Amino acid sequence: MSDILDSLKRVFEEVTQEADWGQPAQYIPELAEVDPAQLAISVCTADGKTHSAGLSDKLFSIQSISKIFSLIAALGRAGDQLWTRVGCEPSGTSFDSIVLLESERGQPRNPFVNAGAIVTTDALLSGREPKMALAEILGLVRAMAEDDNIHINADVAKSEQRTGERNKALAHYLASYGNLLNPPDLTLGTYFHQCAIEMTTVQLARAGRTLARIDGAPKIVSAHHARRLNALMMTCGHYDGSGDFAFKVGLPGKSGVGGGLLVIVPGKASIAIWSPGLNAYGNSKAGTRVAAMLSQSMGWSIF
Ligand code: GLU
Repeated sequence: MSDILDSLKRVFEEVTQEADWGQPAQYIPELAEVDPAQLAISVCTADGKTHSAGLSDKLFSIQSISKIFSLIAALGRAGDQLWTRVGCEPSGTSFDSIVLLESERGQPRNPFVNAGAIVTTDALLSGREPKMALAEILGLVRAMAEDDNIHINADVAKSEQRTGERNKALAHYLASYGNLLNPPDLTLGTYFHQCAIEMTTVQLARAGRTLARIDGAPKIVSAHHARRLNALMMTCGHYDGSGDFAFKVGLPGKSGVGGGLLVIVPGKASIAIWSPGLNAYGNSKAGTRVAAMLSQSMGWSIF
């Protein structure tokens, strides 16, 4: 196994020479303006150290990576009851697809596609003020990262609130099957705000230590839930690109349309990558490449 510092340096240099970074998400105006040619990588290792390359202190919009945190919080509140409302199978469809919801009578395939994440946030909300649910998610993220300086970017949330017609359609469709317990606008407002949490790769990698169950990481998530979350990240973490990510990287991961990526190396490391240009699946293009190269050079694939 080669040394992590050498690997990080080599991978960073090789990937930053890449001419085509992909395009940032166009459907959220606030994200569409971000320069795609940017890269940050942070790796927390089992010896308690954090190693970084590139723009690792730059804040980015974690978007769907927040679905991991809302799921942990919702499981704390609803327990296994949550699995009666959302499944745990890959969907093979894009993140915002509505097609399976009709044939499967309003039960989303998994908690990482948007429909499933909206149900998860609805379970977490459970009749409370959105501010309370958001405080719970933020509190969890801060405790996992051991850093209180993590916040929501209200402009990004508003930007998505203005333009998120697909998510609004999904929420109302779910409500028509009785799978939303709160008014769709309240659940959506909470969902848009959780997606607008901003973090640096250092903060995100540190939060990931809990799921990697590295010695010394905050013991906030039970071993049982960490195992299940990692399984879901492996099979569903990249939407219809999940098979491709498992094939190339061989590790559980969760992407966000802001270009972030959290990758877990069980028992060994937690990796956070950010590069805002996306591939055809809506996952970070350079980020996926970095994850594959790091996993390969460190011998980290779980297979
Ligand atoms: N806020 C985004 C949406 O709902 C999250 C999607 C993603 O990051 O994949 O469309």
